[in-house]
Amino acid sequence: MLPESLPILKELSLEMDMLNGWMPNIQYPIRLKFEMNDDILWSVQRDQLVYVGPRYVDSMEMYNKYLSNYQPTKNQTDMMEAILKKQRQLRLFINRPQAQKHFLQFDSDFESGNLDFAFQVRINEYNCYMRCDSNSRCSHNWYHFSIVSERTQTIRINICNFSKHRSLYQRGMRPYIGINGLWKQGGHNIVFDQKNQKSSKLSFDLNLINGQKIFIAYGVPYTYTQMMQFIQTLGYNILTKTPAGIDIPILYFGEPKKRTIILTARVHPGETNSSHMMEGFLKYILTPNGEYLLQNSQVIVIPMLNPDGVIAGNFRTCLQGMDLNRQFCNPDLNTTPQIYHIKKLIEKLKNPPFVYIDMHGHSLKKNLFIYGPEYPIFGLNYLKCRVLAKLMSEATEIFRYWSGIWRVLPNKRNTARAILNQEFKIVNCFTVECSNGLYYLGSQQITKEFCNLDFEFLGQELGKQIKILLEKEIKYIEYQKDRLKNRRKKKINPYTCLLQQIQKDEEEHQIQDEDELLESESSEEEQRQKKPFVRKLQQPRQSQLRQEIECRKSFVSDRKPISKDKSIDKSQISQRPFSPQTAFKRSASSQRYANCSSKQQQLKQRLSNYGFN
Ligand SMILES: [Zn+2]
Repeated sequence: MLPESLPILKELSLEMDMLNGWMPNIQYPIRLKFEMNDDILWSVQRDQLVYVGPRYVDSMEMYNKYLSNYQPTKNQTDMMEAILKKQRQLRLFINRPQAQKHFLQFDSDFESGNLDFAFQVRINEYNCYMRCDSNSRCSHNWYHFSIVSERTQTIRINICNFSKHRSLYQRGMRPYIGINGLWKQGGHNIVFDQKNQKSSKLSFDLNLINGQKIFIAYGVPYTYTQMMQFIQTLGYNILTKTPAGIDIPILYFGEPKKRTIILTARVHPGETNSSHMMEGFLKYILTPNGEYLLQNSQVIVIPMLNPDGVIAGNFRTCLQGMDLNRQFCNPDLNTTPQIYHIKKLIEKLKNPPFVYIDMHGHSLKKNLFIYGPEYPIFGLNYLKCRVLAKLMSEATEIFRYWSGIWRVLPNKRNTARAILNQEFKIVNCFTVECSNGLYYLGSQQITKEFCNLDFEFLGQELGKQIKILLEKEIKYIEYQKDRLKNRRKKKINPYTCLLQQIQKDEEEHQIQDEDELLESESSEEEQRQKKPFVRKLQQPRQSQLRQEIECRKSFVSDRKPISKDKSIDKSQISQRPFSPQTAFKRSASSQRYANCSSKQQQLKQRLSNYGFN
């Protein structure tokens, strides 16, 4: 007889509804609704229920339990007391299922924990269910719980309700196991397969030792408390509070009047690796090696954009059930204050930031890579926005240049990288994506498993390469000044070699493996269409690039501009390097093309400055 227990009310909240314009009514504290999986209702009648996870009524109740120094203001407390009293009285009447006492003790009632139910289905086999993101229908992907056994034995665990059908588990990743604070991937006989149209199942065997407590999680956990402890000694300000009243810290380093470098992480709570990377980055800039960066720029770090989601153990959303990395276009002060304030902060800067990096974890691809802004191939920014990726790929094998994407697909138009590039013209505006669990190493393509120290190393490496990028930019400004003063004086443009190399690589690159083709962006759409795990090949990068490069070459070549005569014969169109459609558009207006022609001269000049012919 299951629940009635805190039923998820289908008519509430919910991301899909938000797409249609519905917004949660933000009151303090935030009411928490968790969707109930239908499979659980079936299981209750069949199997032995051995664990029921926590489902707090609201954010205040949850934070009181998880955060040691949580203190709502007096006002808030008074205001809510009456409401809470009523809510908790109501709960007495809710028919909460009772787990039976069992020799395996599961627990997920801690910060960032997530396990909703566990059932024993065979002697040594357990079906576990993750709790859905609060006030959302969409996400079951983050699990984090502990087990203590009264026997030494091997058990099989099935985590039954992954909402993604494609996963790194199909490519060799294993669950993260934590014993005495040390985390690494573990478990054996890993199987990940689609159970039904709605969900997929991860199964693995686990060796338990009598009395030993082990933790099991999707990634190496990194909690809000852990982050606050780490930044305590560094000194921080508060960007704003979340709608549930949690502080969002912001750290400033370096020289306020110089170029600005902004880094953010953990907008998606389940991508814990981004926090480990951020810690690595912070450690780097505080060593003597980071001195150059601090002397020549202002570094602004927001280490955790979505602490509400992190504390609750959500995978993707904040407490209100919104994906905060889709709110950059028009952020609301009440529902998404952190996004609102980031944009205000950038607005107030004298110049747009030199670099903006939002750190994420990737659930499908291996290694570390960058998603960048989209620029036309015949502009200089097309190459310049690839410099950091190039530097990273030269510095460490774990970074894969060719897994990167410099395109903004329709479902990414509201992300930080798209909007901030568009509105503030930040050329180096990136999402840095790190695989949640695996990386290829070396030309042999041996696959390795990430541990938290690897993530930290990558954060440090990112810091080093941002430093080199900054050095180049500063030298480039000097170079430009010198050229203006004295045209005869020959100085070397610090970017030339790199840009030439990038262009050459782009022209010659051969697609090597699946990771270069896997378009994570398509996965959401695919999931909606319930497609199985297949390689989805978009237009191969190579042919697309070749086409664009041809286009660029002919654009700057010595071709005569098209005749101003408005009557254009079809043979002329077909000779042009553009696709017939583009060619037609370009030639349809002779005036427009005449403008192009003068731009063409300017561009040619600019490119020759960079050593292109
Ligand atoms: Zn993400």
